[in-house]
Amino acid sequence: MLKFSYISHLYCPKCGNTFGTSEQHQVCTCGSPLLVTYDLEKMKKNVAPGEWGTRELTLWRYHELLPVEEEINVVSLGEGMTPLIPLRKLGNDMSIGSLYMKDEALIPTGTFKARGAAVGVSKAKEVGVKELVMPTNGNAGAAWALYAARAGIIATIVMPTDAPKINRNEIALSGANLYLVNGLISDAGKIVGKAVKDYNLYDASTLKEPYRIEGKKTMGLEIAEQLNWNMPDVILYPTGGGVGLIGIYKALNELKELGWVKGKLPRLVAVQSTGCAPIVEAWEEGKHESVFWKNSETVAFGINVPKALGDFLVLDAIYNTDGCAIAIDDESMLKEQEKVANMEGCFICPEGAATFAAIRSLRESGWVGQDETVVALNTGAGIKYPDIIEVSPGMLGKEDSINKLEPVYKGD
Ligand SMILES: *Cc1c(COP(=O)(O)O)cnc(C)c1O
Ligand SMILES: [Zn+2]
Repeated sequence: MLKFSYISHLYCPKCGNTFGTSEQHQVCTCGSPLLVTYDLEKMKKNVAPGEWGTRELTLWRYHELLPVEEEINVVSLGEGMTPLIPLRKLGNDMSIGSLYMKDEALIPTGTFKARGAAVGVSKAKEVGVKELVMPTNGNAGAAWALYAARAGIIATIVMPTDAPKINRNEIALSGANLYLVNGLISDAGKIVGKAVKDYNLYDASTLKEPYRIEGKKTMGLEIAEQLNWNMPDVILYPTGGGVGLIGIYKALNELKELGWVKGKLPRLVAVQSTGCAPIVEAWEEGKHESVFWKNSETVAFGINVPKALGDFLVLDAIYNTDGCAIAIDDESMLKEQEKVANMEGCFICPEGAATFAAIRSLRESGWVGQDETVVALNTGAGIKYPDIIEVSPGMLGKEDSINKLEPVYKGD
């Protein structure tokens, strides 16, 4: 009989401990995040890559490589299979022949966090979770609260007071319990940690349950499928907790093991903000773990993570693929955001804009070559960040336009 999922077990990348997948798990007894293993040998015998191409255009088309074992537990809003858009003008501007944007603006909740939430909430439902709790900078909390509402799971979300109001509203409307903390996501995390201990709740914090990464991994599967099972040369990812980058790395390795993609893995690039760059600092010093970044601050709140639980996994993925880590300041991010809208018609989020600013800089230094195929992740929609855009008053419409309107293009 064909299986919906070829999940085999959970394993600890630090101490090698293994666990089953039919009961609830958080981190390993040693404190490390747990990762999912699949029976790829068996899967190889039963599934052909061409089969995926015939299925619905959601991330569930990859269900054999996802952790949900019974289809009935899938909680979906149609997430996944976002476009891989060629950016010829911007590529030209940076002198790169093949520049693509994987555009996660086109996904439920407006950010790629929907992928982690869809798979994480579905698996939580499967293992009998009735109530979950998590800290957030905004986008993840909104996605998990909404998917939890669809699944009939109670969600409790703790977020910094100065996280975006839009996320607060999304969480409130979903019916979740919302708590605000005067501090950073790390402070929200401490409150969640205590609640988990005191009330024995399911902890859905980044990498404290093993399945969010499996959802984010599908970005890597889609990029490979959309490039016809060829690998790009470079993939850039705006890195906070780094789950997306770890996920893409995991996905490409699984595809390699299945024999569905060949050749060298793309060089993976972690892009951070100069206001919060613990991974960049660690990479520059050749370290395998990061140090807590004090007083972090950036308009790209999705990557404002001072210390990530999976930092060693992010750094491993960078080292193993000859990638790099680079920090971008807020001003360059916003400038690039305008450029992408202006040249390509895409209103992207500041985190996504950081990846383009990074490509520009890495191309200038020669780290990225002109003939390379480069994929940047735009992790969310620009319209989720209404308050960070500053345009000069003159651009916001001319006075009394109705009486003075005349065509700008007057013929050749
Ligand atoms: C959360 C988030 C990120 C960072 O994702 P990680 O996988 O945690 O590194 C990037 N961009 C946006 C828009 C986000 O919401
Ligand atoms: Zn362990």
